[in-house]
Amino acid sequence: MEETYDILIIGAGPAGLTAGLYGSRSNLKTVIIEKWAIPGGELLNTDAIEDYTGFEHVKGVQLAELMYNHAKKFGVEVRTNEEVKSVVRRDGVFEIVTEEHLKEKTNRYRALTVIITSGGTPIKLGVPGEEAFANRGVSYCAVCDGAFFNGDIITVIGGGDAAVEEANYLTRFGRKVYVVHRRDQFRAQKILQDQLMNNPKAEIIWDTVVEEVQGESVVHSLRLHNVKTGVKTDHSTQGVFIFVGFKPNTLFLEDHPEHDVGGHLITNDRMETSVPGLFAAGDVRSQLVRQITNAVGDATVAALAAEKYITHLKQ
Ligand code: NAP
Repeated sequence: MEETYDILIIGAGPAGLTAGLYGSRSNLKTVIIEKWAIPGGELLNTDAIEDYTGFEHVKGVQLAELMYNHAKKFGVEVRTNEEVKSVVRRDGVFEIVTEEHLKEKTNRYRALTVIITSGGTPIKLGVPGEEAFANRGVSYCAVCDGAFFNGDIITVIGGGDAAVEEANYLTRFGRKVYVVHRRDQFRAQKILQDQLMNNPKAEIIWDTVVEEVQGESVVHSLRLHNVKTGVKTDHSTQGVFIFVGFKPNTLFLEDHPEHDVGGHLITNDRMETSVPGLFAAGDVRSQLVRQITNAVGDATVAALAAEKYITHLKQ
C-alpha cells in the first residue's frame, strides 16, 4: 500500500513552493511533484522581476532558489524530474500516478488533498514553419535562447505582458528587436509599454499577423500580413520569439473539474475546485491577473484551506 500524504502539490513554481511551505509548516505530510529538474516554474524563464513586493529587482532564478530553500526549511518533500500523469478521486482519497523521467519508473501516491499549481504551457501561433524551425530560430523563452541571437535581428510576436517585457529584455542581445502585434494597442501593463517605447532598439509593427516562418536550415524571415492594409511583406529576422499566451497544464486531470473557456480551473474563495479536496492556485486558476504576488496569495489560501479540510476529515 502506498503511503498517504496529507497534501500533494503538482508543480514547483511560486504557487507550488508557497503551498509546500504552508503545508509543511502546518505539520502536514506534504510533497511537491515537479516535472522539470529544477524547482521554480516560470521564474526560471524570467530574467528579472521588479513587481514582487519587497524585491525591487531580483533575478528569476534567484527568487526560485530563495522560495525553494524557504519551503525546504519547513520539511516539504520535493520530487523533481517526476511528472504527474493522472489524478483520480476514489472513496474520498486521491490516487495519483506519476512517471519518474530519469528512471522511466511509474509511481503511485495517495493523498487526502491535492493542490494543482501546474501553471501553463506557451500557446503556439499555429502557422506554417513554426514547428519546423523550433530551436532553429523559433523560441518561446527569451531567458533560455536570447543569447543565441547576439547582434541579430529579433522579432517578438504578441502584445501581452510577456511579449512586451521579453522584447525589452531581448534588446540586450539583438541589434534590433521588432514586436509584431495583431492590433494597434498592447494589452501589456503601461509601465512595460513605456519601457519598450523608450527603448531605441525596439520597433513595433502594429496590425500585423504572421502567416509563415520562413528559412532554410535556420529562420531567415517571416511572412507578415498587415490586416488593415492587406499588404504582405517578407520581414528579415533570425530570432522569432512567440509570446501569445499560456494554456493551463491540466491534462492529468481525469475528474474534469469546472473550468473556464480557456481550460483554467474555476475555484471558490478557498481555492477549492468543483471536486472536494482538489485545490488550484496560480496561473492554472481562472482569474483576472497572473502575477507572482497573486500566485503566492492563492497558494497560501489553498494550503490553509486544505489544512482545514483535512482537520475536518480526520475528526
Ligand atoms: P496574454 O496576456 O494572454 O497575451 C497574449 C498576447 O498575444 C495578446 O496581446 C494577444 O493579442 C496575442 N495573441 C494571442 N493569440 C494570438 C495569435 N494567434 N496571433 C497573434 N497574437 C496573438 O499572455 P501573456 O503575455 O503570456 O501573459 C499571460 C499572463 O501572465 C497574463 O495574465 C500576464 O499578465 C501574466 N504575466 C505578467 C508579467 C508581469 O507582470 N511582468 C509577465 C508575463 C506574464 P490581443 O491583445 O489582440 O488579444
